[in-house]
Amino acid sequence: MADVAFQRCINPACGAEFDRAQAIFKCPQCGDLLDAQYDWDRVPVPSKLADFGKRWATRDQRLDFSGVWRFRELLDFCPDEHKVSIGEGQTILQQNCAIAEQLGMKSDVLHLQYEGLNPSGSFKDNGMTAAFSHAMMVGATSCACASTGNTSASVALYAHSCGLKCTVFIGSGRIAFGKLSQAMDYGAQTIQIQGDFDDCMKQVQDVCTKLGLYLLNSLNPFRLEGQKTIMYRIIEALGWEVPDWIVVPGGNLGNSSAFGKAFLELKQLGLIDRVPRLAIINATGADTLTDLVNNKKLVWNGGNVDNKIIDGFYADLTARNFSPHTCASAIEISRPVNLKKCLRALDVCDGVVRAVTDEEICDAKALIGKYGLGCEPASAATIAGLKHLLAEGTIAKDERVACVLTGHALKDPNVTVNYHKDNQGEFSNPPIEAANDLHEIIKLIR
Ligand SMILES: *Cc1c(COP(=O)(O)O)cnc(C)c1O
Ligand SMILES: [Zn+2]
Repeated sequence: MADVAFQRCINPACGAEFDRAQAIFKCPQCGDLLDAQYDWDRVPVPSKLADFGKRWATRDQRLDFSGVWRFRELLDFCPDEHKVSIGEGQTILQQNCAIAEQLGMKSDVLHLQYEGLNPSGSFKDNGMTAAFSHAMMVGATSCACASTGNTSASVALYAHSCGLKCTVFIGSGRIAFGKLSQAMDYGAQTIQIQGDFDDCMKQVQDVCTKLGLYLLNSLNPFRLEGQKTIMYRIIEALGWEVPDWIVVPGGNLGNSSAFGKAFLELKQLGLIDRVPRLAIINATGADTLTDLVNNKKLVWNGGNVDNKIIDGFYADLTARNFSPHTCASAIEISRPVNLKKCLRALDVCDGVVRAVTDEEICDAKALIGKYGLGCEPASAATIAGLKHLLAEGTIAKDERVACVLTGHALKDPNVTVNYHKDNQGEFSNPPIEAANDLHEIIKLIR
């Protein structure tokens, strides 16, 4: 390929390459996933990561202000004039001693990367700023996505800021109210399909193909380029040091895939000297990855993934009419579209996969709320998973861990209120009824 950036099929037996200006989202030749790739010799990447930090001084310029485009040489697929930004990526890495102590870790080793601070309240904005920049570059006028909630909120926000028409597909009754309220408020056409996320995902691909809409799910390789920057910001916040572990919830597996690609590239470019380990956490009610990796021994194998294992697994889900169920609606997915890229990430990062119950998720969420900045249920799967990994000795108590808190606490108030009000768990903090009487009220204050 003569171009500095291009797309390439991840299947080594195919390896077909496509222009970066094509909006295709799956290899037209073999149907596998596509990657954004670069001719790194021609990209002006700084010689050390710390050089990106100099852009804090010029944050009056919109691309230097963005927590995604500040690292733009590492996702160099689009000319600056097409780049879209609404101030995404102003997120923080919080060292959390209290939760570390609750989990029996050394007090200074646990960090929470709070992506709830993004404009639409979830990490998805990191990806959308990149995907919408690509959409502008290719001249798209209308777009669509399937969503468990946060993708629709983020797409709706970016679409109206870019002037694109936008349709979002959500599974009827499967979306948290904070997220649904955003999609409607930001003016997206919202279609509730009688089905789950996996049904929506299938429909949206066909709709996009038939009507020529720009697809914004994480099948879109340019979206994942933006999500790489979450890892750059963690490294930045640690004084340009790499942590020992990254812990992330696994749903459609876009984030974990993007993180693996980020570390693979940083290592190849000589910008880091070691790669952290990756822990991906499923909910037990939506644990395709856990089952395939831990029980069916599915591996990346240099890209030669054993498709028979995957096909057999999905055929069984279909035969049983299986639909995933978890209170962590953002990861309620049983056919993750980025499965193969995620296997690559596990390979690159010597990763592990675990599943946690809804009860564990809710307790972990309350712990994060009590001692941290709060988060939505899916995000709390990280701390619930970390507990398992500490207990089994996979993660040592003095290893430096960064958990990615993917979404804001206010996204899903129902789960939070029910947990506390109904005394569902260890950290429940129910409201107390009081008579409208000063004496009675004073007796209640503790
Ligand atoms: C989308 C989402 C996830 C799942 O991320 P994947 O990249 O699909 O694995 C997890 N948490 C929240 C809050 C999300 O919005
Ligand atoms: Zn291919």
